[in-house]
Amino acid sequence: MGGPPKLSEQVRAAALVKASQSRKRRAEIKAAIKAGELSIDGVLEIAAQEDAVAKMRVRQLLEAIAGLGKVRAIALMERLKISPTRRIAGLGRHQVKALREEFMKSSHAITPGKLIVLSGPGGVGKSTVAARLRESGDFWVSVSATTRSPRPNEIDGIDYFFMSEEEFSQKVHADEFLEWAQFAGNRYGTPSGAVADALRAGHNVLLEIEIDGARQVKSHLPQAILIFLEPPTWEELVARLQARGTDTPDRRSQRLQLAQDELAAASFFDLVIVNDQVERVVEQLIGLTS
Ligand code: 5GP
Repeated sequence: MGGPPKLSEQVRAAALVKASQSRKRRAEIKAAIKAGELSIDGVLEIAAQEDAVAKMRVRQLLEAIAGLGKVRAIALMERLKISPTRRIAGLGRHQVKALREEFMKSSHAITPGKLIVLSGPGGVGKSTVAARLRESGDFWVSVSATTRSPRPNEIDGIDYFFMSEEEFSQKVHADEFLEWAQFAGNRYGTPSGAVADALRAGHNVLLEIEIDGARQVKSHLPQAILIFLEPPTWEELVARLQARGTDTPDRRSQRLQLAQDELAAASFFDLVIVNDQVERVVEQLIGLTS
């Protein structure tokens, strides 16, 4: 029997160098978090590849977040039931999701960016408003994932991240969505990593999603402002959907039914805006950011 095996001088020297490199790497990571250059997703991505980062304690990670600090970091870990000595590599996926949301909340506290969720019936003009807001430079607009097939004018990575049911399920399982919902036979989801990054970078963030997703966002992030975009008249909405012409008659009536349900749910939102003029809606939404 005897104590631990004796290390040769050479092995010991190599271990010391490695330990010092690991410490240096962790210090770099902490500095990047502090500066708002790295999100929790970024850290997790690096941790999946680098042992030194995987071994970092969650407490160190949290303490590095600007505006959180030691005491709140410990309280937060208690609340999220993460043991004080837990390392990044040992986090469960629910804990990862909870941490991601905390990052978003704290980023909101330290940056001026607002999180605005734009919902409303299909065909009401949400995507036109979203496109204008993106062009205005006042908003970072989230690109959703969907299992729906692309329409002829749509581009993967710009309009949506188009993916198979399997890919979407994998992302749901890995808790990569801030929210997701089924709509007219397809699934749609907001990638949480990109939203967290944008908020941390201080952008105003716009999500253009249906109402079930909007409700989920509000429950995770109460600071989100929920906007319901209403058509000036019901007849006009029907006309717009018919003019779109990309749906089959069956699909169109399914969409109209959903649209009616969505109108009925408008009371749940923070603000209802009538889309009588796109410019006016855009101005109103930009006004909410100041
Ligand atoms: P479309 O198929 O017409 O592009 O979109 C159908 C509906 O899905 C629209 O109401 C749109 O706002 C909504 N949607 C788009 N992306 C998302 C998302 O990431 N999450 C949720 N919940 N709804 C989305």
